[in-house]
Amino acid sequence: MEQLTSLLNVVDEKSLYEVFEASFDSVVVTDANWDKGIQILYVNKTFCEATGYTKEEVLGKNPKMFQGPESNYEVLQELKEKLKKGEKFVGQTVNYKKNRAPYYVKWSITPLKNKEQVVVGYVSFQRITDKKGLELKHEKLLSSIVDISNNLILVTDLEGFIVYINNSFSEKLGYKKEELIGRHSRVLKSHEQDKDFYAKMWHSILTKGRFSDVFVSRKKDGSLFYDKKDISTIVDDMGNPIYYVSISQDITEQMEKEKQLQTQAFKDTLTKLYNRRKYNDVIEEKLSAYHHNGDIFSLILIDIDHFKKINDTHGHDVGDAILKDLAKFLKSNIRSDDLIFRWGGEEFVMIVNKPSGSAFLLAEKLRAAISETPLAYMKITASFGVAEITHDMDAQTLFNSADKALYLAKESGRNQVKVHKK
Ligand code: GH3
Ligand code: MG
Ligand code: MG
Repeated sequence: MEQLTSLLNVVDEKSLYEVFEASFDSVVVTDANWDKGIQILYVNKTFCEATGYTKEEVLGKNPKMFQGPESNYEVLQELKEKLKKGEKFVGQTVNYKKNRAPYYVKWSITPLKNKEQVVVGYVSFQRITDKKGLELKHEKLLSSIVDISNNLILVTDLEGFIVYINNSFSEKLGYKKEELIGRHSRVLKSHEQDKDFYAKMWHSILTKGRFSDVFVSRKKDGSLFYDKKDISTIVDDMGNPIYYVSISQDITEQMEKEKQLQTQAFKDTLTKLYNRRKYNDVIEEKLSAYHHNGDIFSLILIDIDHFKKINDTHGHDVGDAILKDLAKFLKSNIRSDDLIFRWGGEEFVMIVNKPSGSAFLLAEKLRAAISETPLAYMKITASFGVAEITHDMDAQTLFNSADKALYLAKESGRNQVKVHKK
């Protein structure tokens, strides 16, 4: 300190001027004449370059000339109080260039005192940051954050045209950003969700500004994509909606697993045919279609003859193989709009869209083929019971009718088809 003082004592003032001129920070020196109003005594080259003012334009003026609508007057008030007391001040606000472009300034201001310790002026070192540049930097920062997020982000305008997607969205849906931006978001629709779903969505967006649900979209490769979306409305300063933003998580894997479990619940594991649970669902639909539209159909029950003996003689594994083979055989010998189920054990049930006469012919054809075709290396026979739906029947009475016919076929010596008499 002492050494510096004695050094400064011998320094030529011009040389001090050169020091300020050489600073990479802006330097502003003012007097301390608060009564008359502070005056700028000096600004360095860096300050002039940063603000667009020449030295002549600012010398003798009050530093207030740099302030404007975005300046923080609380900060300025604090600055004034501290400096008046002869204290140092460090702070930040928005100031304005000669062309009125705003900039951020960070000051470090030190009072200059004379030998009597009276404040005679202030030296302000300033860091000036272009506001626009900083905002662009913030924008870049935000978009980087959005891009590294695992959430899928989609922004559309009010008409549904895509204005932005983040990296996750682009990767998950298999589209490049430029392939989607500018296009209507309907290109992502899978058509798995009906009008009611979208009506519900619009109602919620327009009344509450937001909507959350699972959406089913189609990826670029045509496969389905499930995501849990939260859609919100972005509004402008006046509160008017300008964009819709959807933030979502990919739940495709989970949905596919659930779907698989669901189909498994309706399938028989041995024969891969639909099971009795599925039958119970389907038969209700068929009954409803019959009662509303008169869509006639028949049931065909099939029961392998003396299957117990086959198991006992050849083993359970052979029995299983026969069941599998028979299932395959039956499935490949019916029309695609007829259905077959494993009722249980060695019993199968078919729902065929035919009156009992045609159902009988089909059953007879199958019966004959089974008795002639060796399944799993051996011939078997089966008995058939056929019943056609009538107006006074429900699912149970229809089944009982076919079961009675089957019983009759067994009673009559097996390997036959019997039709329930209406
Ligand atoms: P019927 O001609 O009167 O129908 O005689 P059946 O022996 O076929 O009749 P029943 O219904 O008494 O016996 C059915 C047998 O089917 C009993 C059981 O051992 C066998 N079975 C049921 N489910 C399976 C299965 O999944 N695999 C095998 N291998 N056998 C089964
Ligand atoms: Mg049986
Ligand atoms: Mg049997």
